[in-house]
Amino acid sequence: PVRVRFCPSPTGNPHVGLVRTALFNWAFAKHHQGTLVFRIEDTDAARDSEESYNQLLDSMRWLGFDWDEGPEIGGPHAPYRQSQRMDLYKEVAQKLLDGGHAYRCYCSQEELDTRREAARAAGKPSGYDGHCRELTEAQVTEYTAQGREPIVRFRMPDETITFTDLVRGELTFTPENVPDYGIVRANGAPLYTLVNPVDDALMEITHVLRGEDLLSSTPRQIALYKALMELGIAKRIPSFGHLPYVMGEGNKKLSKRDPQSSLNLYRERGFLPEGLLNYLSLLGWSLSADQDIFTTDEMVAAFDIADVQPNPARFDLKKCESINGDHIRLLDVKDFTERCRPWLQAPFAPWAPEAFDEVKWQAIAPHAQTRLKVLSEITDNVDFLFLAEPVFDEPSWAKAMKEGSDALLRTAREKLEAADWTSPESLKEAVLAAGEAHGLKLGKAQAPVRVAVTGRTVGLPLFESLEVLGKETTLARIDAALA
Ligand code: GLU
Repeated sequence: PVRVRFCPSPTGNPHVGLVRTALFNWAFAKHHQGTLVFRIEDTDAARDSEESYNQLLDSMRWLGFDWDEGPEIGGPHAPYRQSQRMDLYKEVAQKLLDGGHAYRCYCSQEELDTRREAARAAGKPSGYDGHCRELTEAQVTEYTAQGREPIVRFRMPDETITFTDLVRGELTFTPENVPDYGIVRANGAPLYTLVNPVDDALMEITHVLRGEDLLSSTPRQIALYKALMELGIAKRIPSFGHLPYVMGEGNKKLSKRDPQSSLNLYRERGFLPEGLLNYLSLLGWSLSADQDIFTTDEMVAAFDIADVQPNPARFDLKKCESINGDHIRLLDVKDFTERCRPWLQAPFAPWAPEAFDEVKWQAIAPHAQTRLKVLSEITDNVDFLFLAEPVFDEPSWAKAMKEGSDALLRTAREKLEAADWTSPESLKEAVLAAGEAHGLKLGKAQAPVRVAVTGRTVGLPLFESLEVLGKETTLARIDAALA
């Protein structure tokens, strides 16, 4: 049975790269009717925070992910927070020491740096040189007497490591490129290098799907698994698949600090989880050459890790927005109406809560649904309905109100007053007729009406907007514009 894991560290805000990794693991698990383990890698007390932990969980729920084992639901390998598993790691570290798979290293940082520089200068591999691999008892006594506090270092076997990456095919690492590495700090704190594979072993993970940035740790981990298997701690070495880098502006790797990468930003702007996930799935994968828009169910049904492309994927905000817009249009109207509420009713709305009018909202919603890329755009599109006066922006006003606009507006007001307000067609004819009277086509004639009534030069279909706003308010706004 397939067992995969999503194991972020709770540092800072969740970012889109993390979400892509979660998505691919989730889709892979679902596709194979496997198990998704959600584990929190919070062993770095200096960087992890409870706030980030809560945010992480909230984000996963918002995105619609579920997991089979992990925080809030527990499971056979609980606890799923590494900060609560420290004793376990210490035990494993001790077994590795006892079995000769690891050793205590007394080298100071300064000594390491000096020797690394020298190796570099001599054109030799600059990783750890094995200095403490075979210390005599006398040397250990001496180092201890000097007050040195050792770290625990894993002893890499002197052999080439080859594995078949599920995304990249066969990869080979030679020993000089994979030196012995630290697994426990001098203060006794176990490091990511130890706890991550130990948990994958204990939790019986079968497939590790993670970002390319972790590729260099894979040969070390494979060697560690072999040791854990010898010790009877691991049952197998999982398969690995490294997901391609996500590139941002200027073809640089999208970094955690890049504002464009923050998941919260997408939430605040009103991306739908399904739209965002659809877009993120395209960062390295695709459903088919001619279908960009699909549901997560369709993704799950089709997902094959062998189809993931190894080359870097570019994050394209425009495309992300456009795909989200398509998902907005896929909602049924009632769902759309509800999902806009946070922007329409406190706390985000620019109008007073009592100014919101449910009947008007229901009437305008279908016209708004066809135009939005993100839900937050709803505010600007419907504020003319709920604000006492439209928000005028001067440049739009100047642009729409060319010479002769006053005369046109006066005629339009007359015709609108006489029109039948139960159909947008009749309102359109009124403005059309006003335009004709002044030698203007509909497009030119409706611009000043739109600005006078909504404050903007672009917006929802005008005549439907006027109908929803109502005769009285529409005429009053034209009067105010003429005054
Ligand atoms: N906690 C690690 C990270 O967030 C996970 C690495 C892995 O997937 O192995 O980078």
